[in-house]
Amino acid sequence: MFDNKESRTNLSELGEFGLIDHLTRYFEIKRTSTNIGIGDDAAVLNFEGEETVVTTDLLVEGVHFDLSFMPLKHLGYKAVMVNLSDVYAMNAEATQITVSIAASNRFPVEALEELYAGILLASKKYNVDVVGGDTTSSTAGLMISITALGKTKKEKITTRSGAKANDLLVVSGDLGAAYMGLQVLEREKQVFKANPNSQPDLEAYSYIMERQLKPEARKDIPELLQALEVQPTSMIDISDGLSSEVIHLCKNSKVGANIFEEKIPLDPTVISVCEEFNIDSTMVALSGGEDYELLFTIDQKDYDKIKGNPNLTVIGHMTEENEGMHLITRANQKIPIQSRGWNSFEDANDEE
Ligand code: ADP
Ligand code: MG
Repeated sequence: MFDNKESRTNLSELGEFGLIDHLTRYFEIKRTSTNIGIGDDAAVLNFEGEETVVTTDLLVEGVHFDLSFMPLKHLGYKAVMVNLSDVYAMNAEATQITVSIAASNRFPVEALEELYAGILLASKKYNVDVVGGDTTSSTAGLMISITALGKTKKEKITTRSGAKANDLLVVSGDLGAAYMGLQVLEREKQVFKANPNSQPDLEAYSYIMERQLKPEARKDIPELLQALEVQPTSMIDISDGLSSEVIHLCKNSKVGANIFEEKIPLDPTVISVCEEFNIDSTMVALSGGEDYELLFTIDQKDYDKIKGNPNLTVIGHMTEENEGMHLITRANQKIPIQSRGWNSFEDANDEE
């Protein structure tokens, strides 16, 4: 869970205000849009005529993360990524975040320092200011809620509802790796329980484990689209699996879609680990979660601008709404797309 086991400072030793000062001491203001950051009753921001994007996510121990294999530094990093991904999915630039935590006395100051080291790393790498938050105790476990703010020009905002029939459906990166990384981590947890002295060789799984433990939000994709002069017609980030996100785009845009199985981008590690676990890799891409890639639609006239770009794959196209949503398999079968995305409520019950 946390690496610094040398010292254990109880949260009560610092007190709430001491703790806030302690955890936030390394955050600097870098953005011109941040007028006032941490330390007053509220932050003051100024976006100078641009549209403001706001999004928030809450992560709860035992529901969204398992500290037996998730180091706190990674959790802090991932909590930021989950939020930035939503800002980028609006075709916006992320600029500020606020961080709220509730921690039980199981967590000493040293543990929260590691959580904040991950938040600090993420905020520096993605160039966002941390401008506030809230700190409180919890009776059980850890909760972390992050709110992200971003900005964009009005005409660049990309919602889930602008896709048209015949638009191309495009995805960034590759899919399914975070889910298979979780399968490996859960298997190793069981192995470790049975034999705490086992020394697993996880080298072959490093890519997929990293995708699960340290995802990167696609800051580069809105920048790339801007450079290519492509305005997507709709966009969403892939947090719950491809099928669930395609359904969101279709329902919101009142269109249908055809996805071609052979086009779905998979990393070779995902293919081999799926064989090892005897799971269908297409199912994993469709239903596995937490890839944090971007899924968007473009007008066909823009195809030449994105063609051959290693970051982007055309996986299908939109259709009229009455044609429905289908996966066209390698065997040329047409299968209706169903939502089997992750449901945190179901997952929580499964763990009982
Ligand atoms: P208030 O009583 O107005 O809620 P707080 O004492 O909770 O004020 O917070 C003081 C300042 O520290 C505020 O700027 C707040 O946004 C910031 N802050 C509080 N907790 C955190 C945290 N966990 N991470 C970052 N900033 C925080
Ligand atoms: Mg407060």
